[in-house]
Amino acid sequence: MINGKKLNIAVIGAGASGIMSVIKLREMGQTNVQVFEKAQDIGGTWRDNRYPGIACDVPSHLYRFSFAPNPDWTRVCASGEEILRYLRRVYDERDVGRHVTFNAEVTEVHYLKGAWTLKTTGGTYGPFDVLITAMGILRFPTMPDIAGLASFEGTMFHTGRWRDDVSLEGKRVGIIGTGSTATQIVSAIVGKVGKLLLFQRTPQWIMRLPNTEISLEERERFRRDPELLEQHYQELGHEFNSKFAAAVVGQNPRVYEYMEQMCRENLETSVTDPVLREKLRPNYKVGCKRLVMSDTFYTAIQHSNAELVTDRIECVEAGGIRTVEGRLYEIDVLILATGYDAHSTLFPMKVTGRHGLTIEEAWKQANEAYLGVTIPGFPNFFMIGGPNSPIGNFSFLMTAERQCEYAISMIQFLATNPVVAVSPKLEAMRNFNESVKGQMSETVWASGCKSWYMDRNGNIASWPWTYEHFEQLMNHPDLAHFEQLDSTQA
Ligand code: NAP
Repeated sequence: MINGKKLNIAVIGAGASGIMSVIKLREMGQTNVQVFEKAQDIGGTWRDNRYPGIACDVPSHLYRFSFAPNPDWTRVCASGEEILRYLRRVYDERDVGRHVTFNAEVTEVHYLKGAWTLKTTGGTYGPFDVLITAMGILRFPTMPDIAGLASFEGTMFHTGRWRDDVSLEGKRVGIIGTGSTATQIVSAIVGKVGKLLLFQRTPQWIMRLPNTEISLEERERFRRDPELLEQHYQELGHEFNSKFAAAVVGQNPRVYEYMEQMCRENLETSVTDPVLREKLRPNYKVGCKRLVMSDTFYTAIQHSNAELVTDRIECVEAGGIRTVEGRLYEIDVLILATGYDAHSTLFPMKVTGRHGLTIEEAWKQANEAYLGVTIPGFPNFFMIGGPNSPIGNFSFLMTAERQCEYAISMIQFLATNPVVAVSPKLEAMRNFNESVKGQMSETVWASGCKSWYMDRNGNIASWPWTYEHFEQLMNHPDLAHFEQLDSTQA
């Protein structure tokens, strides 16, 4: 039952965050919700990433919406396919589809006098009282800046644009990159290819996370006993949020030492050849780059088909990759596991806020938001996964749900008060970002490595505090930090 005014709400993206937003908005009685999805299917990241071996790197039982517990996860870390099936099930069961317009990429959003208008590739929509962006974080593949890339005459693609039509069977396959994506692919394909060449610029620390099957009996127990399932979720949440997430932001040195020891031991005990072991040993702190979770990569890279190439790449040529030592590595299929630009949050959408302020003007110096969710000058505009969201700490579904709840509290305020729009105060955002910068130096991400968390200016776009602090701030929006605009001011 709705409490207050019925608002028109637009959501951009039908991935996990967009699906969740619809369900949560409806729960609060806001049913005039329209979702715009650029593709012709739901699923976002899990629709677009289909490379062999793809799986979640947080335990599946933490990777779920609180309102849709899933007793049926089949592995500790579910495969991409299984996660997509979960999202489809929730989407179907909750009848989210009636809110979604597919093939409608939002190219432009414009705020005028309390209303947002959206231009999409499928037409113009509006007015909307509220706009929620649920566009995902790792959307834009980073193409490596390597001379001669275009001259390659074999097949080449980025991991985010996987080519199902290209067989790797018996082929000479080159992979550039050694992040979470590459390590999963190497493990999945090494036994099938003719030769696998892994081009490593920087080694990664790897935490062994055995991705074991969850037995039928255990799944049955979870199915029969929702309280047991909830207890499992709480225990995992405690392990991940209060220990791991606190350790990476410098708040749990004991757990951090343990993580460090686990990664070092993993390398020592898993890699037998001392030369290879040294090549795989990072020279920066554990967790500075996002930790790779795998119990298969070290075995895979020691497979007779595999070769780790640490000589620097000079260029790509028609037949393969030439390193600075002058050797040509001949390749049939070149896979670019070179990651994503995590700082193009809203790009290429044109965003114009109050008084004609554009997002380019607002973010001239850096992408900044108040608490990662709202931006001064852009009223009733809420981002899931905005700048300084906790991208390096905990399950993104948990992050997304807390941020969505924050937006919902503000929407509830709009619905029940004679206020047309809310917009965070510039001072509130500046104070928040000053404290982010101050605290970031305490985190392991700032300990001297390059990672995708860093923007072009070297600012680290993650959350430098604990999960508990995030939860506390998301659960209790501080209205004193917002301008409240009535119909004459909006
Ligand atoms: P990434 O961690 O950013 O790794 C990119 C890799 O490409 C790095 O090894 C990088 O080397 C290398 N690289 C980039 N440009 C290069 C160049 N010009 N020459 C040589 N090497 C180059 O990307 P990712 O592996 O796709 O992972 C990104 C994030 O996606 C992960 O951290 C994770 O958050 C998420 N992810 C999650 C899962 C999961 O849930 N299981 C799976 C995959 C990805 P440098 O280190 O030297 O820069």
